[in-house]
Amino acid sequence: MERKNIRRKLIGVLKDARKVLAEAVLLDKTDVLWYDPKVAGASNAANLSGTGVRSGVEKGAAKPPAKDIASEKEKLINEILKDVRGCKKCPLHKSRISVVFGEGCPGTKVMFVGEGPGYDEDRQGRPFVGRAGQLLTKIIESIGLKREDTYITNIVKCHPMINPGTPDRRGNDRPPTEEEVSQCLPFLKKQIAVIKPVAMMTLGNSAARTLLGTQTGISKLRGQVHDMDNIKLIPTYHPAALLRNPSLKPYVWEDMKLLRCLLK
Ligand code: SF4
Repeated sequence: MERKNIRRKLIGVLKDARKVLAEAVLLDKTDVLWYDPKVAGASNAANLSGTGVRSGVEKGAAKPPAKDIASEKEKLINEILKDVRGCKKCPLHKSRISVVFGEGCPGTKVMFVGEGPGYDEDRQGRPFVGRAGQLLTKIIESIGLKREDTYITNIVKCHPMINPGTPDRRGNDRPPTEEEVSQCLPFLKKQIAVIKPVAMMTLGNSAARTLLGTQTGISKLRGQVHDMDNIKLIPTYHPAALLRNPSLKPYVWEDMKLLRCLLK
């Protein structure tokens, strides 16, 4: 009789635990699966109407009209691009296939900043297009944004490789050195100055440390809103880290909810 009671209690505990873990279980079904919107509540959260984020144009920018501001920003961004294209300021130019400048809507309220382009990005000339990039797109969509209505870029614009002599090898990525970051950072700063986002999410250690000027690690920096020259900055884990370690996904979801609040 006592055994039966223990068994019943155990089943009850397991059922409760299953409910609590439901989100986490759904996180890991495929390589690039993010949250099931029904479980995570992202579908209800998707409506950011009135924030101006979906249109990619700043809300309330009445004089001059928002579309004029957006096109002015686009023009200025293109001018920065001209400088970056031929850049040879650091050794990364020697092994790059493409300069990966960044993409998205210059009139956006939110920027995502990673560490540097990888294998796929170097080949396509676009940021976050590999598996980590696919996951980032899902992460962005989970709070009701469209990737193209945000702006995505990196701290450095050329692919940092462990061994530049084997550019065709995958898994040859490394974080940029301090020297590479210091040479390239002015381009990002110009991009930020033109876009003037309300919020910025940094992805991974390098981006957070660089923009916040700290050596503190991402696990301590994330989960809170920092101020960077009046821009609200939320550090979170890099999507590539989530692919390696899916147990980090709930933390990123928490950070995305924080971002969603800032954009409301
Ligand atoms: S990483 Fe930046 S500074 Fe270095 S060559 Fe590329 S664009 Fe220039």
